[in-house]
Amino acid sequence: MERPLTKNIHIDRPPLNLKEYEMTGGYKSVRNALKNMSPEEVRSLIQESNLKGRGGAGFNTGMKWSFVPKGPDAPATKYLIANADEMEPGTFKDRLLLEGNPHQLIEGMIVSSYAIQATTAYIFLRWAYKEAALRIRQAIHEAYEAGYLGKNILGTELNLEMHLHTGAGRYICGEETALLNSLEGKRASPRAKPPFPQVSGLFGKPTIVNNVETLCNIPHIVNHGADWFRSLSYSEDGGTKLYGVSGRVKKPGIWELPMGITMRQLVEEYAGGMQKGYNFRGALPGGASTDFLTEQHLDIKMDFKTVSAAGSRLGTGTMIVLDDHTCPVGFVHNLQHFFAQESCGWCTPCREGLPWVERILLSIEKGEGRLEDLDLLSFHTTYLGPGSTFCALAPGAMEPLQSALKYFREDFERHIHDKKCPYNGNHIH
Ligand code: NAD
Repeated sequence: MERPLTKNIHIDRPPLNLKEYEMTGGYKSVRNALKNMSPEEVRSLIQESNLKGRGGAGFNTGMKWSFVPKGPDAPATKYLIANADEMEPGTFKDRLLLEGNPHQLIEGMIVSSYAIQATTAYIFLRWAYKEAALRIRQAIHEAYEAGYLGKNILGTELNLEMHLHTGAGRYICGEETALLNSLEGKRASPRAKPPFPQVSGLFGKPTIVNNVETLCNIPHIVNHGADWFRSLSYSEDGGTKLYGVSGRVKKPGIWELPMGITMRQLVEEYAGGMQKGYNFRGALPGGASTDFLTEQHLDIKMDFKTVSAAGSRLGTGTMIVLDDHTCPVGFVHNLQHFFAQESCGWCTPCREGLPWVERILLSIEKGEGRLEDLDLLSFHTTYLGPGSTFCALAPGAMEPLQSALKYFREDFERHIHDKKCPYNGNHIH
């Protein structure tokens, strides 16, 4: 099984320095692309590979790049941004790539900048990833020294400046337009889309924002081709995927596996199954802002289309498992507490609605709920659903809630009838 993204990551040693990285074939794709391919050839290769954005939304990467204006009338200044603000609960996959092989990300960003003709690139990093910051800074320095960054890269006409920017620790900064505002030094409120950043992004210029894992795939596609990339996958989405499992499993972790591996394989084979005395009840397949899947879904492929067809989303591909000793109401309350706290407050439904949902859930969890509260919660899943807010934060927050009401309704009702938590308040923090 090929693991292009992680084969050079060894958690028991620091990341490869530039020389070691080059000895493993590192920066070869920069030579391949800059010397043998036009920017449009790189872009169409990526589109042909069917690489879909790994930040959670799964938008076709090559297609996204195609929206950047080209030609003599296009703005000369364009930006590339690596979204490394990984704050989705349960998600720690980009951290592995950032700490484990920063040169791979830089290489992917150079080739991507060439494809979209960007001359400035930023890495927007989660504030808490301190070790990653040190390692990225060192790798950027090495790349400048070796002539992979700066003016006339490898003797070509490509100029590229790269900067590391550390966020201030808010979840909303991972939303691409809030990220742009934050990078411009403004309050991190999401912007209305359209215009999409590809046309009017950072400082009003065409900007591509791609997730770290997405960008790390670029060198391998350029070196080995679109057919090779698609052949790595068990599904129509190309490539491998960094999948994760957390919760009461025997071996929580992250693994690079063919896209389309089943939930059962992830939980039973890679995560070693449930801990003794605990049974699987369900899982959020891709971080907290996705819908629960349950035992009936264990054999579905974990790819964008199949997970959506099952009523959820692949999201970040890092699943949080719910076991039979954990209170689903408390679990969902805990998530709503997070989302309410992280709302930027810009639009009213999100600012006012999320704390309301949080309070209702807390009262049910404490045994003070009423049956009518379940209707109120259902109402909120629509009121705060897609299309009602500026960005995906509140609709994302409603996903675990609406699916918990669907699959674990008897748990909500028991809290109300028994006037206490049947799990003695035991839930995941
Ligand atoms: P989205 O579907 O609105 O957009 C995804 C990307 O496609 C964006 O870059 C957007 O510009 C582009 N796009 C979408 N429609 C387009 C169109 N019509 N024309 C041009 N470009 C278009 O999703 P989003 O709001 O960017 O992201 C939501 C996702 O983020 C969720 O799936 C969630 O799982 C994930 N998420 C991840 C993290 C994390 O830490 N990795 C944190 C929070 C949320």
